Amino acid sequence: MPLSPFVDAYDQLIVDLDGCVYVGDEPTPGAVEALGELRAAGKRTAFVTNDPRHSGEDYVQKLWGLGIQASLADVVTVGGAVQHLLAETRTGGTAFVIGTAAMWRHVTDAGLKVVNGSDLATRAEVVLVAGTDELTYDDLRSAVLALRNGADFLATSRDPTYPMADGLWPGTGAILAAVETGSGRAAQIVGKPEPQLFLTALERLGEGRTLAVGDRLDADVGAASAAGLDAALVLTGGTTAEEAEAAEGPRPVRVAETLAKLLTT
Ligand SMILES: [Mg+2]
Repeated sequence: MPLSPFVDAYDQLIVDLDGCVYVGDEPTPGAVEALGELRAAGKRTAFVTNDPRHSGEDYVQKLWGLGIQASLADVVTVGGAVQHLLAETRTGGTAFVIGTAAMWRHVTDAGLKVVNGSDLATRAEVVLVAGTDELTYDDLRSAVLALRNGADFLATSRDPTYPMADGLWPGTGAILAAVETGSGRAAQIVGKPEPQLFLTALERLGEGRTLAVGDRLDADVGAASAAGLDAALVLTGGTTAEEAEAAEGPRPVRVAETLAKLLTT
């Protein structure tokens, strides 16, 4: 099954993971084989994710488990982008983090002290909102108080949902909305649709004609446009064919039912 002429015209691809390569723990139909074709054709590939809950190592392990041979250098996570930003601008400071253990580690590795659960929580210099499966009212209260005390406000994304086998689950944007409502403040976004994740991926890939592939108009096509890249949209995640048709703002250069169909037909 050779590559499609459309994809073959590009030197390299930046491919979103969630809703594009897999949904939950299942690869999208034909994705594993099609990504193998891409590799065999000598196309460079970087995988990106706005999902802040896991580490880069977790994604490498997940991809190998699905039959996709990826290395740590092939995976660009929003957690990595947050770490990069914090290390450059706020090292030595204190942070209140709504996020998973993996995100706490990124913040600590950037040289900040995580002050969740301490007396300093409501005086943190930075509040970071990322995705988590464990959210308490205490977290919301501490974050809101720290923001009302003047903390810098960062979030990984405004993604309202993420796709799972039984439907769309509430994402980082749903949690962020609660913190923004309570604080009356608006967060600076680090992940998609801001261009930083794609720019980091481009640094890894090098020069060449680049196609970004994702499942969301707002996040993926928006970030590609902000980074000056062509974007293709697949319909296995957060966007329906009708929504793709009706898109206002940045438009994909191609819409495909699945990643495999985009790559091979
Ligand atoms: Mg996605």
